[in-house]
Amino acid sequence: MAEPALPAEDVPLPALHASHAGSWLCGSEGAVRGSSKGEAVMAAADTPHLILNAPLIATRLGYPDLSGLDLLELFAFVHPAVFCVPTPKGLAHALGLPEPEDGAQVPRLLRQAAGVLLATCEREDWAAREGAWSVLQSLARLRWPWAQVLSPHIAKPERAEKWLFSRLPEWDESAERPQPAQVALDEVAIQGQLERLTGEGSEKREGQRAYSRDVGNIFAPRERRDKPHVLLAQAGTGIGKTLGYLAPASLWAEASGGTVWVSTYTKNLQRQLRSEAARAWPDRRADGTRPVVVRKGRENYLCLLNLEDALQGGFGGRAAILAQLVARWAAYSQDGDMIGGDLPGWLGTLFRQRAIRSLTDQRGECIYAGCPHYRKCFIERAARASAQADLVIANHALVMVNAARGRDHAQRPTRIVFDEGHHVFDAADSTFAAALTGQEAIELKRWILGPERGSKGRRRGLAARLADVASYDEAGGEAITAACDAAQALPGEGWLGRLAENAPSGEIEALLAAVRAITYARDESGAVDAGYGIETEAAGLTGDFVERAQAAAQALAEIRSPLIKLGVRLEAMLEDAPDWLDAQGRARIEGARFSLTWRIDTLAAWESLLGRLGGPADPEFVDWLNVERNDTREFDIGLHRRFVDPMKPFARTVLEPAHGVMLTSATLTDRNEDGPDWPSAIAKSGAPHIEVQPRLTDATSPFDYASRAEVLIVTDVKKGDLAGLAGAYARIIEASKGGVLGLFTAIRRLRAVHGRIADRLAREGLPLFAQHVDPIDTGTLVDIFRDDPHASLLGTDALRDGVDVPGHSLRCVVMEQVPWPKPSILHRARRAAGGGSAYDDKIIRGRLAQAFGRLIRSRDDRGHFIVLSPAFPSRLLTAFPPGVPVTRLTLDEALQRVAAGVSCDDTKFEEDART
Ligand code: SF4
Repeated sequence: MAEPALPAEDVPLPALHASHAGSWLCGSEGAVRGSSKGEAVMAAADTPHLILNAPLIATRLGYPDLSGLDLLELFAFVHPAVFCVPTPKGLAHALGLPEPEDGAQVPRLLRQAAGVLLATCEREDWAAREGAWSVLQSLARLRWPWAQVLSPHIAKPERAEKWLFSRLPEWDESAERPQPAQVALDEVAIQGQLERLTGEGSEKREGQRAYSRDVGNIFAPRERRDKPHVLLAQAGTGIGKTLGYLAPASLWAEASGGTVWVSTYTKNLQRQLRSEAARAWPDRRADGTRPVVVRKGRENYLCLLNLEDALQGGFGGRAAILAQLVARWAAYSQDGDMIGGDLPGWLGTLFRQRAIRSLTDQRGECIYAGCPHYRKCFIERAARASAQADLVIANHALVMVNAARGRDHAQRPTRIVFDEGHHVFDAADSTFAAALTGQEAIELKRWILGPERGSKGRRRGLAARLADVASYDEAGGEAITAACDAAQALPGEGWLGRLAENAPSGEIEALLAAVRAITYARDESGAVDAGYGIETEAAGLTGDFVERAQAAAQALAEIRSPLIKLGVRLEAMLEDAPDWLDAQGRARIEGARFSLTWRIDTLAAWESLLGRLGGPADPEFVDWLNVERNDTREFDIGLHRRFVDPMKPFARTVLEPAHGVMLTSATLTDRNEDGPDWPSAIAKSGAPHIEVQPRLTDATSPFDYASRAEVLIVTDVKKGDLAGLAGAYARIIEASKGGVLGLFTAIRRLRAVHGRIADRLAREGLPLFAQHVDPIDTGTLVDIFRDDPHASLLGTDALRDGVDVPGHSLRCVVMEQVPWPKPSILHRARRAAGGGSAYDDKIIRGRLAQAFGRLIRSRDDRGHFIVLSPAFPSRLLTAFPPGVPVTRLTLDEALQRVAAGVSCDDTKFEEDART
């Protein structure tokens, strides 16, 4: 947005700001003064103050009940679906106001920002006027603090406003696409397309051209059934990989009429792809359809029926206010994506993240064509749009789930580019896992029986969802009744409490009680006392345990059997449709059939997991029992099964039916002394499981790592010395004047370090943010970090390769220690199968390479990569790009280097050539 601020009056309301450096109050007359935390709390409790990001200010003041007039809530109302970094500086940018220079100037900014936002509501050209007055009336009834302030600024419309559900457009049904034409891409055409996409006169990069040509091969017609073309492409940062594969992909899509799926692991890359794809495709085709579609799992999108339910009393208190603001957003959202789309990530944290989740379709309870909003549903729209698209941008999990149990055969991906290909293994691991836990079982029970008495909401059980089937088809009705009776054996509300008191109810709870008892009895990890989750392998189980498992398996089979019968009846109804079954009813039954299959498969996987307990171990799988805990509080208990090699089911489900697949990444191969380890990369691709020999290609990064980066291994910060670790972080951040990304392997250490140094750094004008500490979602934390070159950010795994911050904001990465894999039962089994310590080394080198990759994102980036580990093994150093200087030194020496910066020849700087 960032239009220049309107000449708006300050709003004469008191304002409050607090950071780690201090607190400031501004009275209604406009005078700002520093205050103690206690004084600030008293003032806010007395009169509602203007604040920015109440949960964060509450943490800073140590007063969780803080409330007031939060500018972010007002921003969400006035500018729904508009991006804003939720900091004083970010707000100032979004509204075109001058940045505050320090904390003392923030209260004044808040008054100005409120003035600009209120003045916007009076402007003729306010883009989000429609619906504002109506929503404001509802918010006033809910006693939203801003309602009274806003009311005089929003005129009542002369004509009735279009309300959300009438404002949203309907999607159109369109004919199925024919199968793609078989075309082979010409190398000259690929080069031409690449030149067109990179732009006239742009630098010709040989690495990118060769890469693009190699990618073209995966689109060639397949020669043998079940044998796709597979390409493994190592693509160093900066070669221009995205356009490198979009060039052949766009050519093929145009020539064949088919769809290419590009799958990513992080939302960052999805965003980048969306903008780069605009070079190859127009926003819309002549017929109004979109050639490029971002597709996510259904649990990401707003379910309009859930929202309607929330607006009509399903939500109470603050959550009801959130529902109104979400309704404002939904009317202006591009695609209804609540997680990583245009809904500000901070909106959920201002209210309750759980409330955001319950507005999506988490539990697969969609009633499809039975839903009054079906024709406007965001999820259905995205699914239809992707069937017609040339390019679908998705994530690994969705591509795998679609391949495994896609509703529609025509929508299964057959040409797939897995970018961030080093994450395919982890995504396959989760997709093909089985977990019989209390939480999973209770979800199944709710899906079959509906919510238990006393819960609010529209959720209904199978009997209510399929009432017409039950009354029309006797056998179908009997199957529903039998499934409902059998589902009583599943755990119900309060199951964790009953297990803790050793009073389980039903066969499944009885089994989970035994899982709990045996896990506590056997865990030797030390996590029992530390409060973390505990686990034990599913071996050496007693006769009593095995009997309970058999009884539980029997109970599950009794649920599955009527569900299978019901599926057969639904199938029969679809084949020989009764007169009353119109197109909508048909779609609803097809939807029910689909979700039924998914539940039947889950039950079968659970039974198979239980069936093997007590028998010989199956070398293909790792089975274990666990109790998930957080700070000693138990939140789930269950049995787990994973494939030792999840690429085996991946190969059968995703690769085999496909025609062309590429896995690409800057860290696709491990690097040992002999260079890239291709044999491991091939084994890890899954291709050998379907007897396909993948093509290999390697494009080296054009970045001059050797002169732009230094690896410093600090040898005098002792392991376990928390005070020393915190001191080292503080001094590095001071030496670098911010711009530090700190990576931790344990949340506890991260919190301890942050608690010791945040205030001290803030007083020096070096704000420190942290995952697991600040009540801010990870994406927003990265936005804040990117926006302020003096800020630093601490985090764990998600930041190790989900951060793309080119430029000065990120100039130093610090790892607190060597990132060893967590010694879990699953890891032990894979380690044994994968070559022992060599397997660990590969994992660690991969993690180091990913973390190092955060540092140099563009040609003109430079900086230090620091590991605070006296015992850093030399065999891991090949993780870093060849030629990068590595020095073992003391902390003091490291600080001198950080303060001096990395010097290099800047005349070589050219355009930002990020991947
Ligand atoms: S069709 Fe399903 S997901 Fe869409 S709004 Fe209705 S119930 Fe929600």
